Amino acid sequence: MTAPRPITDALKILDSMLTLPLATYLETCTHCGVCADSCHLYQADANPIHIPSYKADFLRRVYKRYHTFAGRYLPWLVDARDFTERELESWKDSVYQCTMCRRCSIACPIGIDNALIVRTSRTILSAMGKAPALLEEHTRNACEVGSPLRVTREAFLERIAWLEEELQDALDDDQIKIPLDKVGADFLYIAASLELMKFPQTILSTLKLFHAAGIDYTLSSVRYDVTNYGVFNGDDAATKAIAEKDVAEGERLRVKTVVVSECGHAYRALRWEAPNWLQRDLPFAVKDVVELVHEWSAQEKLKLNPEHNPDAITYHDPCNMSRNSGMMEEPRTLLRRAAADFREMTPNREHNWCCGGGAGCCPCRSTMRRAWGPASRRRNKSNGRRPALSPRPAPIARCNWAR
Ligand code: SF4
Ligand code: SF4
Repeated sequence: MTAPRPITDALKILDSMLTLPLATYLETCTHCGVCADSCHLYQADANPIHIPSYKADFLRRVYKRYHTFAGRYLPWLVDARDFTERELESWKDSVYQCTMCRRCSIACPIGIDNALIVRTSRTILSAMGKAPALLEEHTRNACEVGSPLRVTREAFLERIAWLEEELQDALDDDQIKIPLDKVGADFLYIAASLELMKFPQTILSTLKLFHAAGIDYTLSSVRYDVTNYGVFNGDDAATKAIAEKDVAEGERLRVKTVVVSECGHAYRALRWEAPNWLQRDLPFAVKDVVELVHEWSAQEKLKLNPEHNPDAITYHDPCNMSRNSGMMEEPRTLLRRAAADFREMTPNREHNWCCGGGAGCCPCRSTMRRAWGPASRRRNKSNGRRPALSPRPAPIARCNWAR
């Protein structure tokens, strides 16, 4: 067990993370309260710890104490607080009960990104040894074993052998092989823990699409789990180390594109955030499976027939894919091509409700987190009980666990 760090270290971490946007968000909240109603957690449980600005105020109070004139000399006047061990301890429940979905950022009239403040607070908590034990364990597993759920290389290879048989059966061709570690392939496909352990059918479906489109792809026996728990935990060193492994494998195999499936945060992390963490451009493109299927459908490499799907369906926008990555029209175009009766859920696109499964909340099955699932499901049911499609297993798991 590592020795506890002095609270002065927490202050140094805050100082090192103070960018202009963060300082602006910490300076400008008017406490109007508009963000409260936008948060799915507060909707499910009207406890003040779920109000977005309340979560941000922990860091805000400490920031004011050390970085503003009024906070230094008249702390009582501006609700500034000394950074103490007790103060830091009081952050935990509220800060780790947030899915970092950023719905509140869209609602805020002045655009304060509370999720960025929450992420910064998590970084400080994690560095001070105060992150939830399960997130710590998953992050350690990702760094040491290469998989948060401890999927070993042997377990992965067994899974692939089984999937290969399933693929041969599905495509009625016993010569089909799943390529592994193929240097120079166009696409490297990396799945996620949840798929490998709980939803292997999504991997199978993706492989079927690859074969139908006739692309040159490979999987890796070195990097087979793209999940980056450092993002959730707030552990910046782990976040960077995990991303570096994915990048190194893409480089080793000299692929043109890394395809990230299932995991919304992994896609966002590798595509949008890894270049910042690693301080360089990636030598390959990063794409989501949905994005690629959309391209292949437009190029008629994949032919979709809505007559195969006559029932009414609706679609749940995953936060990291829609609000946080801007991929909103591609899945809709695909669904209109593939289904005869696609109907929108309300609200949708960047205003979608979070499923409650992101930012590490999915594996932490506390009583509270179980309560968030029914809220998601109720909203879905309000759309006429139509089957709701989601390209992410986390929302499916959230709703299943909440039954
Ligand atoms: S909506 Fe924006 S300004 Fe209003 S309380 Fe929330 S974060 Fe602060
Ligand atoms: S980021 Fe999402 S879960 Fe977190 S406070 Fe904002 S709306 Fe709530």
